[in-house]
Amino acid sequence: MTEPLTKVCQNPDCNQEKPIDEFYKKKGYKDGRAARCKECLRAYFREYSAAHRDYYRETWKEWKLRNPEKAKEHNKRACEKYRAKKKAEKEAGQ
Ligand SMILES: [Zn+2]
Repeated sequence: MTEPLTKVCQNPDCNQEKPIDEFYKKKGYKDGRAARCKECLRAYFREYSAAHRDYYRETWKEWKLRNPEKAKEHNKRACEKYRAKKKAEKEAGQ
């Protein structure tokens, strides 16, 4: 099957015909490409993560309050991971 050279972005706000390279490859899609162009997907993810950042931060804070022991464990592990990384960097001659 030959791929078409262009595709129309399915985002109603965009709806532009763009070169096929402007669409991410997606397995399982009819034409093997995402419905929205890269630009639209990038904008979408940016907005999505901005909208959810506060939510996740709040959830995490609450979880820590409810699970102080686990949070301590988590912090300890994060600390160890960080230290191990630094150590590895040092040994690699950084
Ligand atoms: Zn688009």
